[in-house]
Amino acid sequence: NKKIDVLNVKFDNLTKKEMLAALIDRVNKKEKTFVVTANPEIVMHANADKHYMAILKQADYITADGIGIVKGARILGTPIVERVAGYDLMLDLLKEADLNQKSVYLLGAKQTTIEKAVKKLKKDYPQINLVGYHNGYFDLADESILSEVLAAEPDLLFVGLGFSRQEKWILRYLEQADKGLAMGVGGAFDAYTG
Ligand code: UDP
Repeated sequence: NKKIDVLNVKFDNLTKKEMLAALIDRVNKKEKTFVVTANPEIVMHANADKHYMAILKQADYITADGIGIVKGARILGTPIVERVAGYDLMLDLLKEADLNQKSVYLLGAKQTTIEKAVKKLKKDYPQINLVGYHNGYFDLADESILSEVLAAEPDLLFVGLGFSRQEKWILRYLEQADKGLAMGVGGAFDAYTG
């Protein structure tokens, strides 16, 4: 899996299907996994903020979230096979979690939104072991949320705090966690309930 460089961000050149298979394999092996679904805004931000770029360098997988990245890679002469949107990948992972009774934690969005998302998730994916959820409006320095999610030990952790905040939080989480796949999902909980 050769990485494709788009403005110093290294994208995985995988179809959504291949990406999903790779991620599921890692979840089954209980390997810690940091997934970033990067859109052009994220790439631009990383080029303006070296701390954020350093965080992206720690990602295990970076998908091309948005046609802008796919077009950019093609123009640079190093095409990426397809767009892998974060929202779609989240839904595919939830489906997998439902089929194989994985545990899931949802972190982010407004309280009303996350409550709606939980209700819908329980209906759409009844076999998922939902080990917790929390809204995204807390101080990043607040260790209690971190402790709560660490104690829940989810197989899959979806974090929708908006980009840069969510990746910072995930990296801190994975430094302390023993297992789990964590992925920043931006406004996915809003999309899921909207
Ligand atoms: N959000 C949050 N905490 C914050 C700021 C934002 O949980 O302090 C949530 C917000 O409610 C929304 C998501 O993060 O669900 C951001 O969505 P957006 O579409 O703006 O994603 P981005 O493009 O920033 O990744």
